[in-house]
Amino acid sequence: MIHNLQLRVDPRTAATPLLLKARASSALDVDANAIRDIVVKKRSIDARQRRVMVNLTVDVYVGEDAPQSPLLNPVCYGDVSTAPQAIVVGAGPAGLFAALRLIELGVRPIILERGKDVDARRVDMAQISRNNVVDPDSNYCFGEGGAGAFSDGKLYTRSKKRGNVEKILQIFCQHGASSDILVDAHPHIGTDRLPVVIKAMRDTIIRCGGEVHFSSRVTSLLLGKDGEAVCIEGVSTASGDTYRGPVILATGHSARDTYRMLLDSGVAMEPKGIAIGVRLEHPQQLIDSIQYHNPQGRGKYLPAAEYSMLTRVDDRAVYSFCMCPGGFVIPSASGPMQQAVNGMSPASRGTRWANSGMVVEILPDDVTQYSGTLKIMELQEEIEKAFYEESGNTQNAPAQRMTDFVAGRVSASLPASSYAAGVHPARVDLLLPAPISRRLRKGFEEFGRKSRGFLTDKAIVLGCETRTSAPVRIVRDDATLCSVNVEALFPSGEGAGYAGGIVSAAVDGERAADALYDRVFKKI
Ligand SMILES: Cc1cc2nc3c(=O)[nH]c(=O)nc-3n(C[C@H](O)[C@H](O)[C@H](O)COP(=O)(O)OP(=O)(O)OC[C@H]3O[C@@H](n4cnc5c(N)ncnc54)[C@H](O)[C@@H]3O)c2cc1C
Repeated sequence: MIHNLQLRVDPRTAATPLLLKARASSALDVDANAIRDIVVKKRSIDARQRRVMVNLTVDVYVGEDAPQSPLLNPVCYGDVSTAPQAIVVGAGPAGLFAALRLIELGVRPIILERGKDVDARRVDMAQISRNNVVDPDSNYCFGEGGAGAFSDGKLYTRSKKRGNVEKILQIFCQHGASSDILVDAHPHIGTDRLPVVIKAMRDTIIRCGGEVHFSSRVTSLLLGKDGEAVCIEGVSTASGDTYRGPVILATGHSARDTYRMLLDSGVAMEPKGIAIGVRLEHPQQLIDSIQYHNPQGRGKYLPAAEYSMLTRVDDRAVYSFCMCPGGFVIPSASGPMQQAVNGMSPASRGTRWANSGMVVEILPDDVTQYSGTLKIMELQEEIEKAFYEESGNTQNAPAQRMTDFVAGRVSASLPASSYAAGVHPARVDLLLPAPISRRLRKGFEEFGRKSRGFLTDKAIVLGCETRTSAPVRIVRDDATLCSVNVEALFPSGEGAGYAGGIVSAAVDGERAADALYDRVFKKI
């Protein structure tokens, strides 16, 4: 017999099968020896009170065994080798999930990715920190797996209404992610595990008859006429190859050359607000002690603590973004004359540092020094160049103790940082536009009041954090998800302005595949 139970237990009990069994046995009033298995279906940590507790939803199997993989519900992918084809530009989460969904729908995906495969990418990423060399096609943003491949792999999203998040998590598990992601309230995969999962997805696509082409940067759209309407017939790449078919365009938020190419091709786009600021790095032990209300830290049974901060200053949101417990700060520049940082964590979240973006909302109307569709992108470029030049044209990042940022002075010294390209003391507050620094300063003071110990000289800010989302929206019809002025072009994912994060990009990729199928193939 299977009993479904809600349990609220201390972290040690949650992590110790024998203790959990004893707890379930007393809750159900059954002999512990009759309990064959306990399957944890949902797990969340409640650290609101001084005593940290874990909430569990479990299935208790009494007198019978649990099935072998009780949580898994894999998707079947069939052979599409002789099916009609569609082009997917970009192998980030949006592109990969679009391709997998096309296979489910009986369409053959041809993926074109400007970067290298996920293993070859590592070599180029190491060059950024070691030798300040950024390959404009292979870096932390570009290459197989997209911007999410070398990340924390956080998989929670607020956009649950737009698609089947559970299915996205199931597909990750089917390709090698731990089934813990189906259970945890704040699931994450980790930068050490993500490449394995991404390679398994590529294998599925190729095994079913799809194609994946690396080092294939799309440089132009093949446009034709369908009556009065402009219609996309395919794309061509930097090496001169052409590929024909309807197109899902999932090129991410950093493909600035691609945005310029789309604008020149007449694809409808509009400026979109983003958020800009710094990356903040604390000792993880400090964040653990604040969040778990314990000067000793997290102890043996709790994970590295997370935080989430949000306030409004002078009518704009100031908030933490992409928090990486037990992680590293990494250089996320994707071209020359750029410096930008971001964060990632291994599956263990085991490093000594906790980092997050601390950013200020920017609306298109806030930017007056530039005009036109790409004005927010031009602001990103200006800030990234200022940080790059201040650092003597290297990736060594300007940094400031958090308290010095608030006080407006250069730091006399800096604590150790996880950032492999190194940090040097600088007036980060002066490198950022004044309205951003002013709001961040007030935001930090507010966060320090809300969370004692958070505003500290043990933390540093380093910059700059400019890649929080897309600086434009590629305008598409709400119902058909097709570009409003180019037939058979389906802009998707974060770069198109319809997602922010791995899961929401994946969900949007699936939606784009459905939309393409409905508009192009269903009527055939
Ligand atoms: C360091 C880092 C850490 C992050 N951590 C997290 C996290 O923990 N959780 C989370 O939810 N989100 C995280 N994000 C954000 C997340 O990665 C993105 O939201 C997500 O990857 C967007 O997916 P996408 O498929 O829309 O675009 P991308 O992942 O950006 O993929 C776009 C792909 O298109 C390719 N491309 C671009 N131009 C062309 C072209 N012209 N021709 C061919 N290919 C092209 C690029 O090479 C890239 O591979 C992180 C981002 C970074 C940079």
